[in-house]
Amino acid sequence: MQTITILGSTGSIGTNTLDVIARHPDRFDVFALTAATQVELMLAQCRAFSPSYAVMASEPHARQLAERVKAEGLAVQVLSGEQALSEVSSAPDVHVVMAAIVGAAGLAPSLAAARAGKRLLLANKEALVVGGALFMSAVHEGGATLLPIDSEHSAIFQCLPPDASTWRHGIQHIMLTSSGGPFRDAPLNEMASITPDQACAHPNFVMGRKISVDSATMMNKALEVIEARWLFDLAPEQIQVLIHPQQIIHSMVQFHDASVLAQLGTPDMRVPIAYGLSWPERFESGADPLDFRQLAALTFREPDLQRYPGLGLAWETLRAPEGTSAVLNAANEVAVAAFLAGRLRFDQIHAVNHATLSSVQPSNPKSLHDLLALDAQARSFAESVVVRCAV
Ligand code: NAD
Ligand code: MG
Repeated sequence: MQTITILGSTGSIGTNTLDVIARHPDRFDVFALTAATQVELMLAQCRAFSPSYAVMASEPHARQLAERVKAEGLAVQVLSGEQALSEVSSAPDVHVVMAAIVGAAGLAPSLAAARAGKRLLLANKEALVVGGALFMSAVHEGGATLLPIDSEHSAIFQCLPPDASTWRHGIQHIMLTSSGGPFRDAPLNEMASITPDQACAHPNFVMGRKISVDSATMMNKALEVIEARWLFDLAPEQIQVLIHPQQIIHSMVQFHDASVLAQLGTPDMRVPIAYGLSWPERFESGADPLDFRQLAALTFREPDLQRYPGLGLAWETLRAPEGTSAVLNAANEVAVAAFLAGRLRFDQIHAVNHATLSSVQPSNPKSLHDLLALDAQARSFAESVVVRCAV
């Protein structure tokens, strides 16, 4: 029996994780569930999974949940705040932590799980983009097992031999695949009038709104390039990106002998989630098997940087001083939130990211405290650019 904490249990990854766990009731015991604001869904999850703890990010939501939990006589302790997120991620009873909060808000609890040596299933790519070297040393020093949940990184992980010392020298490059998002064929002159609902209508996945917008701009792939650099210890030039609209090949590794390994499957996040939960074994995920007789074609093309200007920032950022990725991530979180709130045009997201990267210079961040200060500084600058764009 593995005891698990799910950070962000009410989101798209969180609910898919609970769907997989419900298929294996003999293997997982839920220790804690956490969410930001969705009290009703959290209550339903408490009824279904009987966690010991439920954490709401804010005090008012925690109070509402506590009243409902008490009225129903559920044996769940309700907590609130950032400190509680880190506590339920590092508690001695916990074996596995699913990090599925969106954005840099997930960094502190993910780091706490890494330092406490947990088996850490990482969906929250922004935590690794912001944390970078600090995150990876917490994993190594804490003795944590870091398993990627992002489908591309799970694919690469599945294509590599288990012993890092044998594969590190054999990789020529990796190829991260991308659907290209909902606007991969849209006329460029329509980019300025794209609405949040259009941007969130992803061709193959239903996901949270932030990652949906990131998929439309391909900033999601930029963050994934940075994520891959840290997960697999690669040089920036060893990471390539390909548009593959069908999303059947989830990513590939090209080795020095010109052999290529790929991982394939139906596009369903329960596959990488189940692999993280069952690794090194495999168990049922609930996803449909791939029917090759139904596949008309698998096609590939190079991403057009005029359509996706943010993508190029990934390699620029990786070659820049440490902390630059945290600046890019903060700017992008502010820009996407402003776009979703109707305060910024879709095509201005890149302008905010570019302007923030040009102006906010990191001064060698070494601790979580330094990174959070840099994140706050970049957010404040990005917000001023949003305000200027709106004028
Ligand atoms: P989502 O918006 O559906 O869910 C986010 C979860 O985090 C919710 O439970 C929400 O309550 C919680 N949360 C949000 N802000 C918070 C805060 N400030 N403090 C505490 N909790 C907070 O997002 P998602 O699509 O599930 O994505 C989660 C993460 O997984 C993201 O980093 C995303 O990039 C990554 N990811 C998602 C998918 C996908 O298919 N959805 C695929 C790969 C990677
Ligand atoms: Mg992905």
